[in-house]
Amino acid sequence: MTDLPTKLLIGGEARDAQDGRTFATFDPAHGAELAQVAQGGPDDVDAAVTAARDALDGAWMKTSPAKRARALNRLAQLLDDRTDELAELESRNVGKAKWQCEAEIKVAVATLELFAGTAQHLYGRSHVVNPAVVSYTLKEPVGVVGAIIPWNYPLMMAAWKVAPALAAGNTLVLKPASATPMTALRLGELALEAGIPAGVLNVVPGPGGEVGEAIAAHPGIDKVAFTGETGTGRRIAETAAKTLKRVSLELGGKSPNIVFADADLDAAVLGSLWAIYYAAGQSCEARSRILVEDGAYDAFASAFAERARSLTVGDPLSPDTKVGSLISRAHADRVRGFVDIGLEDGGELLAGGDLDLGDGLDADAFVAPTVIGGVANDARIAQEEVFGPVVTLTRFADEAEAVRIANDVRYGLAATVWTGDGGRGHRVAQRIRSGAVGINTPFIAFPGVPFGGFKDSGYGREQSIEALDLYTETKAILQNTSAKPMNPLGI
Ligand code: NAD
Repeated sequence: MTDLPTKLLIGGEARDAQDGRTFATFDPAHGAELAQVAQGGPDDVDAAVTAARDALDGAWMKTSPAKRARALNRLAQLLDDRTDELAELESRNVGKAKWQCEAEIKVAVATLELFAGTAQHLYGRSHVVNPAVVSYTLKEPVGVVGAIIPWNYPLMMAAWKVAPALAAGNTLVLKPASATPMTALRLGELALEAGIPAGVLNVVPGPGGEVGEAIAAHPGIDKVAFTGETGTGRRIAETAAKTLKRVSLELGGKSPNIVFADADLDAAVLGSLWAIYYAAGQSCEARSRILVEDGAYDAFASAFAERARSLTVGDPLSPDTKVGSLISRAHADRVRGFVDIGLEDGGELLAGGDLDLGDGLDADAFVAPTVIGGVANDARIAQEEVFGPVVTLTRFADEAEAVRIANDVRYGLAATVWTGDGGRGHRVAQRIRSGAVGINTPFIAFPGVPFGGFKDSGYGREQSIEALDLYTETKAILQNTSAKPMNPLGI
């Protein structure tokens, strides 16, 4: 590929890092270097914060909500027009099937359009306090937002933060994951092309321990919006507390997929395959624990494992590929390690093992769709986030036990319930401690629907009207309406 974005984007300019460092970004499926990218450091974060602050108090403050909306819609149109090019770039950098990257770019487009529509509807409220006081509230931007995003959905995760932040009048310093800087940098370029003023969206790739830490600690940043691992989120919240930044955290998951014996088993098998193997299982919302009622366990396990074995694993750019590579060899090794742990703890391998991928691909970066049956919910493989194409099967006896097992993890991001009994679907959904529950559907993330976690999956809701609360401060303005002269001390 030619013309890859390889520089930091600060104040509307493509810049080298101040200390001149670069780092390699890869095409993991082929085990090849994609580009050398400028590696930001704390000084670059400082420059980006200055640019963001200047834009906040300057050009962006002078931009009316209607013009912000228009700019966001133009950015959405640019992404839509370039879906194919962006999807290829994303697919190469992440190793994910290109058709999935295309779908995610369409979600990014819809997210920008959703929040463009909110820019002119940031309403406060008015209140007559008593005959002498009337008040009204304003929804003002929080200020400079530091957005730190992961590698699994790079452009979509950027859009989930950039769209509401800009709609509400904030400016940003965006840090993509070190592994996947490409599409976030492209997004910054396209924002300029869409007429968003220089300095409003700055993009600084670099290591989490340097650039991410500098963002969390910087006194010029008012709010940190983070998506990533729970441990990283906890550390960011601790660092951000020192300057009392606002923080929102979208973290890890270990989500249950509950199959009752009265469910349509074919639909449950097909939906459950998507829920774990999409993005090669590298999804925060992956339903990585399948819980099956005793009466349906054997039939479900054999049908699901057979389908898992039949999924095409291979070149992310091939339209037939259902499961691409993982983000890196190192991550694939970690996932394989989890499979070993699951089997040592008594699980039974129902699908998985060696792959025959042919020439040109880095086989070590791939993991076959894996199913481990007969897993107890307290096993490590059922409690820890594997973040790969690995799912466990666990039996349950009745509804109460299903709910107990579903909730018996530290996370609470997503869940799916498969049942033919409508009342049961809602009953179980209400008792599951997670941010979203699908009844007879694996799809729980849509623009307009709140997305976020309970428990160790974080706090804050994205993708919906609730997200605007994360990016606005409420200001109360009070007016004296009394006809009497002011003499509050009665003197
Ligand atoms: P990660 O926590 O390793 O990294 C996320 C981002 O944080 C990256 O940009 C990274 O460079 C940065 N970072 C790392 N250390 C940092 C530090 N000390 N200070 C500041 N920033 C730092 O996560 P990942 O491996 O990129 O992504 C996978 C994780 O993200 C999984 O746990 C997954 O469940 C989670 N995730 C959650 C959601 C959600 O919406 N809940 C969505 C996608 C991914």
